[in-house]
Amino acid sequence: MYQAPRGTQDILPEDEKYWRYVEGTASRVAELFGYGRIRTPTFEDTSLFVRGVGETTDIVNKEMYTFQDKGGDSLTLRPENTAAVLRAYLEHGFASRPQPVKMYYLGSMYRYDRPQAGRLREFHQFGCEVVGDGAPTVDAEVIMLAWRFFEGLGLRELTVQLNSIGCPECRRAFHRLLVEHFASHKEELCEDCRRRLDTNPLRLLDCKNPQCQPAIATAPSSADHLCEACAQHFGDLKEMLGALDLPVVLNPRLVRGLDYYTRTVFEIWPPAVGAQSALGGGGRYDILMEELGGKPTAGIGFATGIERIILNVQAQEIQLPEVAVPCLYVAFMGDQARIPALLLADQARRRGIPAVSALSPRSLKAQMKHANNLGVRYAFILGEQEVADGTVTVRDMAESRQWQEARETALTRLLPTKG
Ligand code: AMP
Repeated sequence: MYQAPRGTQDILPEDEKYWRYVEGTASRVAELFGYGRIRTPTFEDTSLFVRGVGETTDIVNKEMYTFQDKGGDSLTLRPENTAAVLRAYLEHGFASRPQPVKMYYLGSMYRYDRPQAGRLREFHQFGCEVVGDGAPTVDAEVIMLAWRFFEGLGLRELTVQLNSIGCPECRRAFHRLLVEHFASHKEELCEDCRRRLDTNPLRLLDCKNPQCQPAIATAPSSADHLCEACAQHFGDLKEMLGALDLPVVLNPRLVRGLDYYTRTVFEIWPPAVGAQSALGGGGRYDILMEELGGKPTAGIGFATGIERIILNVQAQEIQLPEVAVPCLYVAFMGDQARIPALLLADQARRRGIPAVSALSPRSLKAQMKHANNLGVRYAFILGEQEVADGTVTVRDMAESRQWQEARETALTRLLPTKG
């Protein structure tokens, strides 16, 4: 027996209500803020992600699904979507459009990760990107959008974890401080962190290994070592978020896993759990466009994980809007009613009435049982006599009543009635 590959899952029809709810809320909120949807390919040139996500990151080093196609090109299933959105911005000359360009996306991402609850190898993200404006107001709006999305879903007790990691200039000075600090605690660090000390010292700050926690607790904070411009930017942002009254928690340990971030970084955390189960996160990436070969262009964005959000929607027992069930079942008895039944179901659907046809000949009892299981409100029954005189037997499943009438009036009766 085949099974879905490890770290992937089927999303079954009965789960659809969750997906529709989360994705529908995402599109609605993003469009309320004036963002347009962008759909980029599921795979891109490998080098886009190596440059865009960063050579020292776990994503590039351990988690990419990279393959060579039959033409010999190295391609990678997208592990995230920001680099692809910026590639599209450059490719389509979006710099000549009014700035900033605001985009959102919904789609599958791929990371070769150790599967567990809320961590898959194929997962789905809703994300937003705003490209072409570096003002702190943009950061505030992006965080507000993320917040309104989670609020719109009805999720409670979330927090916005916020930090600033500065620009490359203030980061250089901060890196030196960090390396100095951690070098003096080298014996206490885990193996990964000793390696990161040379490659990406910022990432030591979000190591989860208990062994490293004492050294992390006494490490300097990036937000205390910002250059004047970055400090001003962060100060303005905090003031704006304060005015918006969002539950912001300043978190000096928040650095995020991707190399391209500058200044603002943030995550949305569910109640009582840490970054491992973040519902979403993002930040500013003012140096990324240059990295990808464009002119210096400010940008900021975030991504949220739909599977994780659905787990939280279920855990918080949020009431979802009901997905409509078909309101009509068309049953038939006898060969000569078979085609008229198909046509009658078609007529119903063409008027917008969701209808399910009985397909194989079965006893009326079996057909009514099927109709009951589907939860339809009405069944139309066509037999020899109904075919002969152009009528239909209508059965009101809820009230267990039935009567015979002209097909036209029976269909009209269903129009204003909800199933
Ligand atoms: P990241 O791009 O790593 O910041 O991820 C943004 C969001 O995507 C996270 O907060 C998660 O909600 C979700 N996410 C990231 N990786 C995975 C994964 N392997 N499985 C499921 N969701 C994920």
